[in-house]
Amino acid sequence: MSGQKILVVEDEPDIRKLVHYNLAQERFKVIEAEDGEKALKLVQREKPHLIVLDLMLPGLSGLELCRNLRERPETSQIPILMLTAKAGEADRIVGLEMGADDYLTKPFSPRELVARVKAILRRTEMQSSHPVSEVYEKGPLKINFSTYETIVRGKAVRLTLKEFELLGFLVQNPNRVLSRDQLLDRVWGGEVFVDPRTVDVHIRRLRKAIEKNDRKPDWILTVRGVGYKFHEKALEK
Ligand code: CA
Repeated sequence: MSGQKILVVEDEPDIRKLVHYNLAQERFKVIEAEDGEKALKLVQREKPHLIVLDLMLPGLSGLELCRNLRERPETSQIPILMLTAKAGEADRIVGLEMGADDYLTKPFSPRELVARVKAILRRTEMQSSHPVSEVYEKGPLKINFSTYETIVRGKAVRLTLKEFELLGFLVQNPNRVLSRDQLLDRVWGGEVFVDPRTVDVHIRRLRKAIEKNDRKPDWILTVRGVGYKFHEKALEK
């Protein structure tokens, strides 16, 4: 992860330097922009791995920049961590809807910022580690990661995006005990305010969608007190 390039977009020099310093300590390559226009140019030229983006910028605002980057195919995949002075729930949701991957409210601790940056990069690394055309097929279960289709016993099942991502992570880590925290980290990534019980709710829905008998699951097993395990061998039966 070290050596990856991070663009910091922030008009306040003190905060920009603080973020720069802390990321550089972790061996990230850091580039800076003090406004949205300069940031756009830098993104095109430098192709950063992640952008730390302040919401309140002179000229082009952080939200406008975020939307702009998401609309262009060549920049739509670059993860964005948004910084804001506003702690309101509405602002958080607007930021995430505009395509930010995570959200951090000022004042923030540099350690937390670094942790969030790493979590987002880990998540995107994992997503990009499968080629887009990859298909998982074993026994009655077939998953197409490029079309987001899931076929169980010959029938297409409808899953929400999170359920699909959860299933994807389970099948890619077969027969391993995965804790709720691991699943939260890998599937929900840096999303804030996610309760560990969210995992249980999604597992329950996923079982309903794919298991023959969701009360006696064969594939997604509960590991008491820890989390879950995808029992791949059961697909061979
Ligand atoms: Ca600012």
